[in-house]
Amino acid sequence: MTSSTASPVAPATAPAFAVARATTPRPAEERAAVLAALASSGGFGEVFTDHMARITWSTDAGWSGHRVEPYAPLELDPAAAVLHYGQEIFEGLKAYRHPDGSVWTFRPQANAERFARSARRLALPELPVADFIGSLEALVAVDEAWVPGAPETSLYLRPFMIASEAFLGVRPARRIDYLVIASPVGPYFKAGLAPVSIWVERDQRRAGPGGTGAAKCMGNYAASLAAQQVAYSRGCEQVCFLDGDENLEELGGMNVVLVLADGTAVTPALGTILAGVTRDSVLTILRDAGHRVVERAVPLAEVRAGLADGTVREVFACGTGAVVSPIGRLVGEDFDLPVADGGIGPVTAAVRRELTDVQHGRAADTRGWMHPLVHVAGVGQA
Ligand SMILES: *Cc1c(COP(=O)(O)O)cnc(C)c1O
Repeated sequence: MTSSTASPVAPATAPAFAVARATTPRPAEERAAVLAALASSGGFGEVFTDHMARITWSTDAGWSGHRVEPYAPLELDPAAAVLHYGQEIFEGLKAYRHPDGSVWTFRPQANAERFARSARRLALPELPVADFIGSLEALVAVDEAWVPGAPETSLYLRPFMIASEAFLGVRPARRIDYLVIASPVGPYFKAGLAPVSIWVERDQRRAGPGGTGAAKCMGNYAASLAAQQVAYSRGCEQVCFLDGDENLEELGGMNVVLVLADGTAVTPALGTILAGVTRDSVLTILRDAGHRVVERAVPLAEVRAGLADGTVREVFACGTGAVVSPIGRLVGEDFDLPVADGGIGPVTAAVRRELTDVQHGRAADTRGWMHPLVHVAGVGQA
C-alpha cells in the first residue's frame, strides 16, 4: 500500500491490505500489447489486471480481511442473494498516469460517499471512506504496470459490493463481499470524440420517485438494457430516459447537459437521476468560467423546440467512462433533430479539455480534485 500522508481523506486508521501476488501474471509483452492497442481499439472493460482487492463483511465481524489477491472467478453459492434479489452496488473511477510517471485518481472521496449513499438505499453495510480509498491505493500499487500512459487512456477502477450470503428468504444479507477490479481503457465510444446519436425513450423508464435511480446499482442497468436495444435498432448509440412528466433524466450511465444560445448551461436537477461526479465537476468548471448554471426540470418539448429554433446550441453527455461526449442528434418516435451543425460545440470542447487536462496532469489542479495513488521519487506529493 502506498503511503498517502498528503491526503486528509485516507486517515491512517484504514487497515493495511495483505497482498497475495498472482503466481501467473500476464507476461509483460502481452500486457504491453494490450496497453498499446487501447488508444485505437475502442473496447471498454474487456481486459482486466492481474489482481483484485477484497474486503468481506458479516454482521458479526464487520469489515475484515482487507487484501489484494490474484484476479480470479468468484466462488459464489448458487443461492447467493445477489443472484436472486440484486442486492448490489458499484462505483466507477479512473487512475491516470501523469507525465512525470506518478499515478492519480479523481475525487475518490466523492465516489466513496456516493457508495455509502447507494449502500443505504440497497440495505447494504456502508464501507468507510478510508477503506474505499485504501482499496484503490492497494490495488493500483500492485497493478501499477497496468496504468497506461498514452493520451486519453487510463485504468478504469470498478469497486462493487455484493450480497454473497446463501439464503433465499427476502431480507438484507448478513454476508457481503466488497471487491475492486481494474481494466485499462481507451475512449469509451468507438468513434472517439465524434458526436453520438441519442434515442429518446418514451415507453420504458429506468427510475421513478422513491426508487433507486439515485443509487448506483445493477438493477438500474438491467432496467435500461431493453431500451438500449431499441436505440441500437434506431441507429443510435445511447438512450436518454424521461421521467413520468416527459422531462429529460439521463442516459443509461451518463448525465446530460444542454448549453443555450446565451451561454446558460441547463441540466436535470438531482432526485431520480444519478449524482455524477463528472456532472458536478463539469458544472463547477462551467460556473468558474462564468456560465450561468441551472439545475431544473428539462421538458423534452422545450428541448425539441430549442433545437429547432437554435435556442439549444450544444448538448453533451458526461460520466467517468465517456468523460464529456458531444451529442449530435436526438431521435424519437416522431422526431429526428440535429444538435446545431452536429459537430462538437465550443463550450463542450472547452469543458472537456479543462477536465481531461486536470485529470491527466497537463494542467494545474487548482481545486484539489486529484488524489495520489502511486508517487514517483521526489514528485507527486499533493
Ligand atoms: C455512474 C453513472 C453516471 C456518471 O457518474 P460519474 O460519477 O460521473 O461517473 C451517470 N448516470 C448513471 C446512471 C450512472 O450509473
